[in-house]
Amino acid sequence: MVVKGRRIAIIDKTLCAPDKCGYECMKVCPLNRMKKECIVLDKNKIEGVAYPKINENMCIGCGICVKKCPFNAIKIINLSGELDEPLFQYGANAFRIYGMALPKEGAAVFIGQNGIGKSTMVRILSGQLMPNFGEYAKQWKWPDVFERLPIEAKTYFESVKNKTLTVSVKPQRIDHLTLFDGTVNELLKQIGGLTEDEITNVSKKINIDILLNRNVNELSGGELQKIAIAVAMGKESDIVYFDEFTNYLDIGERLNIGMKINELSKQKKVVVVDHDLAILDYIGEYVYVFYGEKNAYGVISKIKGIRNGINEYINGYLKGENVKFRDYSLDFNRHSEAEQKAKKLILRYPDLSKTYKHFKLHVKGGEIYKSGIIGIVGRNALGKSTFAAMLAGEVKSDNEFTHKGVKIAYKPQYLLKYTKLKQTVKEFLGSPDLKEIYNELARRLGVIPLMNKDMSKLSGGELQAVVLVKILSQDADIYLLDEPSAFMDIEQRLEFAHTLRQIISKMEKGALVIDHDIVFLDAIANQIIVFDGKQSIEGKATMPMNKKQGMNAFLKTMGITMRRDRDTYRPRINKPDSVLDKEQRESGNYYGD
Ligand code: SF4
Ligand code: SF4
Repeated sequence: MVVKGRRIAIIDKTLCAPDKCGYECMKVCPLNRMKKECIVLDKNKIEGVAYPKINENMCIGCGICVKKCPFNAIKIINLSGELDEPLFQYGANAFRIYGMALPKEGAAVFIGQNGIGKSTMVRILSGQLMPNFGEYAKQWKWPDVFERLPIEAKTYFESVKNKTLTVSVKPQRIDHLTLFDGTVNELLKQIGGLTEDEITNVSKKINIDILLNRNVNELSGGELQKIAIAVAMGKESDIVYFDEFTNYLDIGERLNIGMKINELSKQKKVVVVDHDLAILDYIGEYVYVFYGEKNAYGVISKIKGIRNGINEYINGYLKGENVKFRDYSLDFNRHSEAEQKAKKLILRYPDLSKTYKHFKLHVKGGEIYKSGIIGIVGRNALGKSTFAAMLAGEVKSDNEFTHKGVKIAYKPQYLLKYTKLKQTVKEFLGSPDLKEIYNELARRLGVIPLMNKDMSKLSGGELQAVVLVKILSQDADIYLLDEPSAFMDIEQRLEFAHTLRQIISKMEKGALVIDHDIVFLDAIANQIIVFDGKQSIEGKATMPMNKKQGMNAFLKTMGITMRRDRDTYRPRINKPDSVLDKEQRESGNYYGD
């Protein structure tokens, strides 16, 4: 069934607070005022609360309820194009997804914003959610579902249901693993169902041998991520879904596991959902683009070749479908080095060192200039965060370096402490020092609609955006940001990179950004500091170098070469031993144009 000009209504239950507004939307709806039942009380209460329910077929799209809702909980969307019935809808006035993304031979990539249905699609394809075609109240049985599906999808779902096609999944959220009481080895056997041989194989592939006898509750975020990957990768199955595997992993681990996923895709079908563009591009052979409106609806494109598909996503225009889903292209700037104005010094730091019992860090001295952004790259456990903490004055260097008179604002890597605050976003943000910057960032990072949300209810990407607004609207000379891209989607990363460059340049401040996403670092930095050494034993940091030099030095330490896409100018990792890879290695031009 094709529905033209459909209207959908979304009520965000995390924002809706009928006890505080007295059901304002129901009072102001013109149809309700004419005694029609356009907005009614939903009989199905959630945790004892009766939320309003909008009749989408009756609603005339006047938008009055949207304007009057004091908590910005309502969205009314007029779908301009033609869409089939949804494949799945979570409930009344809730998120729904249109289209299908069946895995084919090789490695597929799902690309799109957060909240656009990629994880929902993984859950449907892996049999965790049953398609309901928008009829969310009906008790569906598989034979009825099969009847509604086109032939290829029917065959796929029948095989999943009959278990003639086995599926394993690396879920997006991995925190549930911490509930396991036992060692990694026990978890892999009891939860993952892996045999001794499977554990040995997968441990070698992704370097988790040394973790096997550790207790699960002692693992770091990156270590837990690798265990979740091991479960999905090590299990006997026909298809593996990896939902956001790069979170918490350093750049070397991303590349190594990316390579292993690529190898796996030669033996079985693989689907990867992620926001690290260089890694996705490196792994994938084809792509499904997800577009629509965040937390409202998602639409899935036709299947596309990896390069063209990613470029169409970047351009916001799907050629085959003739659909423009964004009115601008994502920008991969060539000019960040030129943005730095005549160099005005903020801080000169000497050679620094820090000695712990089992770890030593040496940092070559350098200078931080106004309007400049220094990207900090390197594997984990080489002292990047220690360097940031020394500059921020939170950790004393061996030579007791202090930065008198220079104010530093610091965003830490882990944001867990903020989720424990019993405050709304608005209360947390309080009154900022830099009102103009605050307004600009809050708008660009999508924080304004979140103001009434509790800090504990924010998603990872939302929390990251809120904390960045807080830190960057403090008055400081230097902003130190540790892994700002974590949990942000590709669009947010590039939007943030663009906004930060503008702000730092306009305010004549300095910034240092530690991150593991090469595309993001390329977009944000005009200088680079490279960390190298022996992980957890000794770290060495260079002085700040210009971007070309720094990226070249860094890629050399990682053993990879990169070139830029000729149309979009985005950085792409060369396939090992390809003609370009060999040429660039020979000429020492690891970071090619
Ligand atoms: Fe009140 Fe808005 Fe919820 Fe309607 S949607 S009950 S106006 S908070
Ligand atoms: Fe009523 Fe629809 Fe208008 Fe909202 S947009 S007030 S639900 S008619």
